[in-house]
Amino acid sequence: MSLLSLINKDVAYENESREGIVTLRILYIIQAFVLLLDVFFAGLPSFIHSKFIIIGALVVITVLFLLTYKMKTRPANIAYLIFMFAFITGMIPYFGWNGGMQDYFLIVLMLIFFANLGSNSFKFALAGIVFFARSFVIVVYGSMSSVMYIDDISNKIIHVTNNAAVFLSVIAISYIFSHRENEAESKLMKYNDKLVKEANTDQLTGLHNRRRALELLDEIKASSYLGAVTVVMGDIDFFKKVNDTYGHDVGDEVLKAIADSMRDICGTKSFLTRWGGEEFLLIFIGKNGDEALTDVEALRRHIMENPIEVGENKISITMTFGLAEYDFSGDVNKTIKEADDKLYMGKEAGRNRVVY
Ligand code: GH3
Ligand code: MG
Ligand code: MG
Repeated sequence: MSLLSLINKDVAYENESREGIVTLRILYIIQAFVLLLDVFFAGLPSFIHSKFIIIGALVVITVLFLLTYKMKTRPANIAYLIFMFAFITGMIPYFGWNGGMQDYFLIVLMLIFFANLGSNSFKFALAGIVFFARSFVIVVYGSMSSVMYIDDISNKIIHVTNNAAVFLSVIAISYIFSHRENEAESKLMKYNDKLVKEANTDQLTGLHNRRRALELLDEIKASSYLGAVTVVMGDIDFFKKVNDTYGHDVGDEVLKAIADSMRDICGTKSFLTRWGGEEFLLIFIGKNGDEALTDVEALRRHIMENPIEVGENKISITMTFGLAEYDFSGDVNKTIKEADDKLYMGKEAGRNRVVY
């Protein structure tokens, strides 16, 4: 098993966030690795002098690392914090103030705010403790030299490796948690887009719904656009008979096929809406009545000339349309009503026609 998959291995509790536990594992690995480097650079006499504390620290790190596979995130974080307090205060005398161990408090501080530790007041209280601990080590250990002599160069190398550990840990925490935030945010945005789309779409046909059509007409009215807008109301002729003859499900398939024809013939030219039932509202932006009439006529003929196949049935359909230009002076509902009235006139006059 590679190191990466070992770090990434799932938490014992599936409903917990993986990020928190993965972060701890990375921090422990960095900690153990850098401790070994520090010990190496501090030299053999230092190690022999403090072997129990060093070996003890490595054993504790290993045990805590392994416990991340068994523990819940919150206690694992608390264990990490307690360990770090002990580690920092225990290691400063060993490596001396110039070893830079005190900087590890920064990692602790960061983790307190990113990790799932509890309420905000608890986090601020912990931050206060970190502040006092850091101040405490300044007062007690400030400018302390190492317990055994460490030459100047080695001392600087140790400081640099500890500094690197702090940097890597801060980067790991920031990266992992900001990545999670971004991921959560983009998921939320996608979900939001989906909801908006669903709220605007007719489920059966995939066309826009009445709500979205009215919204669009309001947007047009509110905008500075003053070009031509034509509104067309269409209704399937004798659709009740389709349902009665073939059943409601076949009726649904016919509605879908009609929607497809609308997309094919008028999709790029107009805004297609399932107004309700077997009624459709088409909004032509930038086309006056005469121009829209040409497109709607083409649509009417296409529907008339192409019977819809559902299973073994070939169902001939015709539609009647009423067409009205929006004049920007009044209510959009007035224009819709006008288109509806024309549609009714078309029905009265024998259906399968466009009335303008
Ligand atoms: P007309 O030519 O006068 O429009 O006749 P029509 O039979 O189409 O008119 P009517 O308004 O009486 O009937 C419309 C029918 O459309 C009644 C209703 O059952 C059917 N209908 C409405 N919505 C749906 C739907 O979502 N699916 C199906 N299958 N049928 C629907
Ligand atoms: Mg109807
Ligand atoms: Mg009808």
